[in-house]
Amino acid sequence: MSEDSEKEDYSDRTISDEDESDEDNFMKFVSEDIHQCALLTANSVGDPFFPRTTQILLEYQLGRWVPRLREPRDLYGVSSSGPLSPTRWPYHCEVIDEKVQHIDWTPSYPEPVYIPTGLEIEPLYPNYKEDTVVYLAEDAYKEPCFVYSRVGGNRTPLKQPVDNYDNTLMFEARFESGNLQKVVKVAEYEYQLTVRPDLFTNKHTQWYYFQVTNTQAGIVYRFTIINFTKPASLYNRGMRPLFYSEKEAKAHNIGWQRIGDQIKYYRNNQGQEGRHYFSLTWTFQFPHNKDTCYFAHCYPYTYTNLQEYLSSINNDSVRSKFCKIRVLCHTIARNMVYVLTITTPLKNADSRKRKAVILTARVHPGETNSSWIMKGFLDYILGDSSDAQLLRDTFIFKVVPMLNPDGVIVGNYRCSLTGQDLNRNYTSVLKESFPSVWYTRNMIRRLMEKREVILYCDLHGHSRKENIFMYGCDGSERCKALYLQQQIFPLMLSKNCPDKFSFSACKFNVQKSKEGTGRVVMWKMGIKNSFTMEATFCGSTLGNKRGTHFNTKDLESMGYHFCDSLLDYCDPDRTKYYQCLKELEEMEKHINLEKVLEDSDTSLKEIALDLESSSRGSDSSESNESQTYLLKLTSQKKHLKTKKERNSTIASNQNTREEPEVCDKGHLVQRHKQSNSDVKATNPDVSDDSIFDYFRRPFPNQGFV
Ligand SMILES: [Zn+2]
Repeated sequence: MSEDSEKEDYSDRTISDEDESDEDNFMKFVSEDIHQCALLTANSVGDPFFPRTTQILLEYQLGRWVPRLREPRDLYGVSSSGPLSPTRWPYHCEVIDEKVQHIDWTPSYPEPVYIPTGLEIEPLYPNYKEDTVVYLAEDAYKEPCFVYSRVGGNRTPLKQPVDNYDNTLMFEARFESGNLQKVVKVAEYEYQLTVRPDLFTNKHTQWYYFQVTNTQAGIVYRFTIINFTKPASLYNRGMRPLFYSEKEAKAHNIGWQRIGDQIKYYRNNQGQEGRHYFSLTWTFQFPHNKDTCYFAHCYPYTYTNLQEYLSSINNDSVRSKFCKIRVLCHTIARNMVYVLTITTPLKNADSRKRKAVILTARVHPGETNSSWIMKGFLDYILGDSSDAQLLRDTFIFKVVPMLNPDGVIVGNYRCSLTGQDLNRNYTSVLKESFPSVWYTRNMIRRLMEKREVILYCDLHGHSRKENIFMYGCDGSERCKALYLQQQIFPLMLSKNCPDKFSFSACKFNVQKSKEGTGRVVMWKMGIKNSFTMEATFCGSTLGNKRGTHFNTKDLESMGYHFCDSLLDYCDPDRTKYYQCLKELEEMEKHINLEKVLEDSDTSLKEIALDLESSSRGSDSSESNESQTYLLKLTSQKKHLKTKKERNSTIASNQNTREEPEVCDKGHLVQRHKQSNSDVKATNPDVSDDSIFDYFRRPFPNQGFV
């Protein structure tokens, strides 16, 4: 393998990723600056070294023929000319013809969490005979397992919902990512709903997304979903359902918003066969008569949404130059899993290797918030900011934006069509059963043979905790220093977005039950920074965002903060890095101190417990003290540069770029200089003393800044 192997990452031919290409051996002979020469396929000139290939082109340069690779083909499914690849469903799934679409919109105001009044009721619905079933999807257990798939699912005429000439609401969920199994009308304006378990399982009822029509404005309706199975839920901590009105979208350009009154999540005592079920109930008044509306657990992001997004990249003459979209593999329903390679193409041979960063999302289909973070990351990294360009110049990003398209299409919460959680099967050798995780692991393994992977992060949603946080691995058995070093990136993230990301909620360990997760498998393969990022379905308990829901822009902004923290983490000036490390060492000391103080007097014990709770592993909502402390350190970071500042950066970098040998580092150094000057300008007092402020800070419950 030659040293200069940047280019082969563009030529991932994906499906057959196992076979290693040695195409890059020839790249060092090629200069892309020479365009005026004739291009012939190797075969056409009868070259004895490449007798059959049509992938190698020969350019006549300076009196000799020089081989180069042909540009990769446009790929089926994300071609700029053709239609999107059709979505494939299990053959028996009923799918309506109507395409469901929503506008992009975020409220200009914060959406507060629901504060219980104590008067919320807990409806229990014994099965009265007079109850009316108003919606019943096809039998979820028609097949015990996945059989085969078809474009558009079931081809027999669909059952039409009963046309109601009275005021009964009509329901529908037979569309992409939709989930609703059954609706019973229990009173004039009261409906009992059942959501569908993941296909080919009887578990994982959490995700719901359905349409309601025939609405009446000004009436208080009650909806109660009765078959959740998780005892704890963010709905008990103020989370509100999401609502979308087509009339609001059309008339006022308003999209998804948080709604609902009298929200309650409770055990409904309808435990069957030893299982307990939980209900979510809420009341709501529709804004319009005869409106088409939707409710959802989280902001929908479908496979079609992803394909449209990828098509827009492919159709963009600028972004498509540094973002190559390929098919990593096909799912068991023959939908495509995409992999993106994002990096600045090399203009000439460069012996230094770019390090790799890997980002994946949506292994759990119901965790749509992870797709919005992924979208924010892609928007930023493919944007025209100088920092994004710097990142593309410095790293190769390998991105798998949707690991489980089948699950996303059918409206599952957690599983693929095997009825299994893919994120427990990264160790599996069953390529046919778990293709997306098998090929992802294989792609990463091959990547690691060529270059250092500095960070792997798999994006998820969390149903019980607020804020955004990370899980890392336990390095303490291998090396204490490694254990702390892997916490540096999450700590930097918390400093960069203190009102969303909670370092105190991060955990760094490997539980037995998590050994098949991407995080643990990649860590065991040798990636030191191997993370799961968990984003709440609800909102924040931190800083200015405290008590409000996250909207799609909040989630997207995490993608930007991820990039920003990556630049901090890789800054050639290691000041921030070592500052964080020192801080982590201090936190660790306190945890140990707490253990020593077990038998000491009460006041000391209180101090230690407080320190422990504010440093790590505690419930994030109860540990804001450490966040206040982190906020203080945040001000040391540079601020996002203004356009003027960015332009001056670009101008001052021009000279650096003309000297290829210092190109990448020059950028980073430039950034470092700027960030250092920001530090001086904004926070001259920060020193190591801040660590000792940690000891001097007040006891808990003395006010939150
Ligand atoms: Zn997850």
